[in-house]
Amino acid sequence: MYYTSTRDKSVKVTAAQAITNGISKEGGLYVPCEIPCVSREFIKHLAELDYIGRAKEILALYLTDFTEQELDDCVHGAYKAGKFTAKEVAPTVALENGVNILELWHGPTCAFKDMALQLLPYLLTTSAKKTADGKQIVILVATSGDTGKAALEGFKDVENTNVLVFYPNDGVSAMQKLQMCTQEGANVAVCAINGNFDDAQTSVKEIFTSEQVKAKLAEKNMMFSSANSINWGRLVPQIVYYFSTYCDLLNQGKISLGDKINIVVPTGNFGNILAAYYAKEMGVPIKKLLCASNANNVLTEFIDSGFYNKDREFFTTISPSMDILVSSNLERLLFHLSGDNDSFVKDCMEGLFEDGCYTVNRSVYEKLKGSFEGGCCDDAATKETIGDIYRRFHYLCDTHTAVAVRVFYNYLEKTGDTTPTVIASTASPYKFSPAVLEAVGSKEAVCEDGFVMMERLQEITGEPIPAPLAAIQNKPVRFEKVAERSEMTDVVLDLLGIK
Ligand SMILES: *Cc1c(COP(=O)(O)O)cnc(C)c1O
Repeated sequence: MYYTSTRDKSVKVTAAQAITNGISKEGGLYVPCEIPCVSREFIKHLAELDYIGRAKEILALYLTDFTEQELDDCVHGAYKAGKFTAKEVAPTVALENGVNILELWHGPTCAFKDMALQLLPYLLTTSAKKTADGKQIVILVATSGDTGKAALEGFKDVENTNVLVFYPNDGVSAMQKLQMCTQEGANVAVCAINGNFDDAQTSVKEIFTSEQVKAKLAEKNMMFSSANSINWGRLVPQIVYYFSTYCDLLNQGKISLGDKINIVVPTGNFGNILAAYYAKEMGVPIKKLLCASNANNVLTEFIDSGFYNKDREFFTTISPSMDILVSSNLERLLFHLSGDNDSFVKDCMEGLFEDGCYTVNRSVYEKLKGSFEGGCCDDAATKETIGDIYRRFHYLCDTHTAVAVRVFYNYLEKTGDTTPTVIASTASPYKFSPAVLEAVGSKEAVCEDGFVMMERLQEITGEPIPAPLAAIQNKPVRFEKVAERSEMTDVVLDLLGIK
């Protein structure tokens, strides 16, 4: 299996190269040259395995340059007992007849990014051994919250790696800051910067591409790599859980082999739902993929009309991980829907860069409509849904998941499509205590202290606070450094001990 670039089809690299490089030279994203297809028998076989077994089988289809032993080590390292608080890793639970929730937040940071970022360090170090002479990998992350913490947890104490996270000092929630600054591990560091997220991101990119800094690293047998969501190594682990949820529904007797299901995904950068698209193309019987957005509904409009337009008002919402106007992974979908047309993708991306918009042709649009439905809801509807779902089913969902739940019920009402459905749940409700508390009818319980709010939420619902969040209260703060933008290069070299 080889990988090519969405913007240049003459590129041909192995999985290990795609994962170590992160992004293709001319700016395109790596995509598999052919999407592997599986049989019904294969799915039946997967259903007999646990999550680790399922992950290994799916990864083997994509990472053909990894040995069986390497794959084994990777999946066990990521998903072995104790890493995730649910023994199924990603359990599928029923909301009501025909409506199921795929819980992707039982990992160490209580958000779905753990599903990929627990595995990525293993994929990356294994890839680097093959392609980069076992160089020490230095991961630089600029984060607005969830990704930084998930990367720290994923890479902590992984041999031959360092992870350095920069966050805007006034741009993350108190709980997110605490999660990062109490991070354990000998190879991790966290630094606040005076500036906003864009400042952090721009500076990280500058350091990442500086020939001078790269040369300094090379002298010490180190190299930069990235853990952001355009890396193929973050996408492939996400395909696994869509197979896994289908297997779970089979085992629970809710569907028979071959029955179609619908999948609903709360979407930001289009990574999670793209993984579901790959699962569909590979042979998981999926009828529709519902792409759910908050008030930043650029994708809803795109799926309705074929017109992508990022020139619009940006809303800060209670589902912040979906506050995105440029969904980078959509580029991969455009490549596949256009029949691997790299010049078409290039034109679209140039249009986006220059004019802020592009329109797809009729054939791409029809394929898009064949697989996808779009929907959106605002903060008021999100809160209403959290309250409503809690009262009707005694199930508590976070703000991101609630967007997907709302979009699903709107779709059901509009279409009457009663196909068994799986809604991806992307975060623990305790990560977003203020909005969730308010939504379940306790406005007066909202206060300054994140731990107090989690306790109040626990009292109201009887649902326990996830252990990783509860434990932060007793952990010492390890990282207090605040740097200016201009100091960031020095901070990096200092932390790596190569100044
Ligand atoms: C990152 C994130 C999303 C969006 O996922 P994409 O893959 O970017 O579409 C949704 N919910 C939560 C909680 C997230 O952290």
